[in-house]
Amino acid sequence: MIRNGVPWPNGARCAAAITFDMDADSILHLQYPDDADMRVATQSFLRFDPLVAVPRILETYRRFGIKQTFFAPGWCVERYPGTMEQIVKDGHEIAHHGYLHESPNKRSREEERYWLERGSEAIRKVTGKNPRGWRAPLYDFSKNSLDLLIEKGFIYDASLMGDEVPYILRSKAGEVIELPSEWAMDDAVHYLFSLDLKLMMPIQSPDRAAEVFLSEFEAACEQGGLWVTTWHPFISGRRARWRRVERMIEEMLNRGGVWFATMEEIALHVQKCIKAGTYKPRVDELPIYDGRIPELPKDAKGEGL
Ligand SMILES: [Zn+2]
Repeated sequence: MIRNGVPWPNGARCAAAITFDMDADSILHLQYPDDADMRVATQSFLRFDPLVAVPRILETYRRFGIKQTFFAPGWCVERYPGTMEQIVKDGHEIAHHGYLHESPNKRSREEERYWLERGSEAIRKVTGKNPRGWRAPLYDFSKNSLDLLIEKGFIYDASLMGDEVPYILRSKAGEVIELPSEWAMDDAVHYLFSLDLKLMMPIQSPDRAAEVFLSEFEAACEQGGLWVTTWHPFISGRRARWRRVERMIEEMLNRGGVWFATMEEIALHVQKCIKAGTYKPRVDELPIYDGRIPELPKDAKGEGL
């Protein structure tokens, strides 16, 4: 059980953030640099994201009067300016999700810094300010990520899964708030089927996925917790799934005691509670490891589970 809930505004039992990772077709170009242009069906599958799904999602948010967060790779921000402007105009948050969805784990510290800066620049152009939050593409937070986030003034990260409530990531350089994610709350595991992307999950019914998401919500409410989704417009923004999400938001609002907010608002609130001493988060010191653990034999190559 969670012993240590955040005192949310207006006595809410749960803070809820529907976060969308607006990957669009960045992931196709990254995976197939030389022949992404040939893969028109997958392009269309992914471009559904900014062209059809996001307008649909924004309309729902307008109807419910909620403001939420979109994590976007910088390339998508530049490629789909009309969609991004609409997100900003409606008062939602645009947060950082890499530049071309590149994995930080596969890059040097310098390369990671370069892509972080390039993604921030794209977001600044459309929002007029620096992004405050980041989710690593594929959750691939590297051992350099925290220091770079601190260096660039980010206040929160949403890539890790080390707790169910907000906690602190601390290094010698400083700290950021972690608003954790979780695989069960990621729509890809429930629905994503794409031969080109080599992700072939058995497609669940919208009711089945909603059952998982709502059971997480119920548990978060009972425990004074946090409920954060990792959804993708091209996956969850399809009609039957989105209809189910609309019903789900309605159920959540009717239940009462839920604070729908952007991740930035949640992080700022948590910061305030920490300062006031009304919330004492757990602290994770990073890096957890630096290099191979000494217990491994020198010739160990790596083997499966
Ligand atoms: Zn992504």
